[in-house]
Amino acid sequence: MRGILGVLEGEPGGHGDGVTGMGMLRRAAAADLPQVPPVGTRSYWLDQALSADPGKPCPPLTGATDADVCIVGGGFAGLWTAYELTEREPALNVVVLEAAVCGAGGSGANGGLFSSSWVSAGELCRRFGDDAGLRWAIALGDEVGELGRWCERHRADIEFHHEGILYGQAGDWQPEPDVATLALLERRGFGERLRAVDAAEARRVADSPRLSGGVFTPDLATVQPARLARELRRVVLERGVRIYEGSRMVALGDGMPATVETAGGAVRAAQVVLTHGAWAAGEPEFARAFAVGIEHMVVTEPIPELLQEIGWTSHMGLADRREMLFYLRRTDDDRIAIGGGGMAMVYGSGIAGRALGSQRLAALAAHGLVWLFPQLAGVRFAHAWSGPMDMTRSGLPFFQSSVAGNVHAGLGFSGHGLTSTKVGGKILAGLVLATDDEWVHLPVVGPPGSLPPEPLRWPMVRLAEWAFESSDKAAELGRKRPGLAGAVVALMERYAQ
Ligand SMILES: Cc1cc2nc3c(=O)[nH]c(=O)nc-3n(C[C@H](O)[C@H](O)[C@H](O)COP(=O)(O)OP(=O)(O)OC[C@H]3O[C@@H](n4cnc5c(N)ncnc54)[C@H](O)[C@@H]3O)c2cc1C
Repeated sequence: MRGILGVLEGEPGGHGDGVTGMGMLRRAAAADLPQVPPVGTRSYWLDQALSADPGKPCPPLTGATDADVCIVGGGFAGLWTAYELTEREPALNVVVLEAAVCGAGGSGANGGLFSSSWVSAGELCRRFGDDAGLRWAIALGDEVGELGRWCERHRADIEFHHEGILYGQAGDWQPEPDVATLALLERRGFGERLRAVDAAEARRVADSPRLSGGVFTPDLATVQPARLARELRRVVLERGVRIYEGSRMVALGDGMPATVETAGGAVRAAQVVLTHGAWAAGEPEFARAFAVGIEHMVVTEPIPELLQEIGWTSHMGLADRREMLFYLRRTDDDRIAIGGGGMAMVYGSGIAGRALGSQRLAALAAHGLVWLFPQLAGVRFAHAWSGPMDMTRSGLPFFQSSVAGNVHAGLGFSGHGLTSTKVGGKILAGLVLATDDEWVHLPVVGPPGSLPPEPLRWPMVRLAEWAFESSDKAAELGRKRPGLAGAVVALMERYAQ
């Protein structure tokens, strides 16, 4: 998935299905898209996980309390940090402040593709040099198996299936396997982590007539993401971590000790870790560190017979390789969940209190499924939802510490966010405990590249929206992509370097 190379939707300050000229054109196109239910801000996964097991109550913070470490944000990044800290120092007094409930952000809303980044290994090596680029790819790749061991150790049922993913070429405008990346991995002894497949092998994963080949990596697991967030919550609670849900940080005093205030109380902590994801965009320090994109997903009704018909009998993940890729997976209850195809970028930091759902983008994700599998035309979609992503210029997360060394941040998880938040927990635990280990020397430790400030960013991402989406649309229809779109795509790709 791309970094800032996403798209935006609607008017500055909000994002419904826009009423600008571009928005009207889209409405006409939206009429051709499948019907989907109203877009909710709570995902199918989180509803399912909470109704199966709401977990031990974690009431809001009231009054003042002390902690060794206060973590802000109960998504994967915050919870993995709490896990790693207590793994290394079981007696540490750790508090997590979560504005809503653990898993309410992107962590409970995503596609559940616990992925590796081998497919971008060439890009990583160009950015960081071969050794450092490969270290990041290896770190992510190895976490997939490690998550399976974590589930066994903690008896966590998160519907974990370690079966890999096919990045399929679904149209001649989509890139063929990158021979230079494959050769580099072969040379460095990682040839089995990514390999090219032909059309016959691709279609054995799931019989899409669009597939003409692609690349396969075994390093991906599908999970029920909200169950992962809730199981992580359970495990850290069992270790004595105090979690306060419904407790939004409203002020941070970064003295020694630091003070994190909520509406009902305050935590005085020797160290603070900021992992509140896209919401951090509201803080001046991070205003130019990332842009906020709203990603949409839909899930079908249970379709066991249709899954048999298209031969999708494994739990292998699937993605195509368009500009704004579609990513999809089976669920344990025989549905298909799919996301992608477009993204809504938020103006500035304005995610709080706005309607975050775009019916058109949810319908575009649904369109991806019937476009890839015409055999599924007429399939019914049971749920649609959206969630925020914090997207840096490079598409990679960043980790940094304050000059005083007692406030740390791990933000900017977008593509591969499930896996990189797990690695991120190790990095942040290392920064808190001042450990000089392999994790704190990963190349993503350090400040991110700056994005332009608003209002400059808005027209830039709006143009990108049009360029990426119209390129894919034109290619789908067998037309040439508009010349300007090609130029913008090339420019944005250079900008992300
Ligand atoms: C629809 C969608 C599909 C995606 N699909 C995939 C995928 O298949 N694979 C993949 O790898 N990645 C995917 N991602 C990205 C991935 O979900 C994220 O990168 C990851 O979950 C980020 O975790 P996080 O902990 O940083 O943020 P979040 O999960 O957003 O957690 C931040 C938490 O902080 C809380 N918070 C906010 N403000 C405050 C405050 N002031 N005080 C206290 N708490 C606060 C929020 O309520 C939230 O719970 C997807 C994302 C979305 C939205």
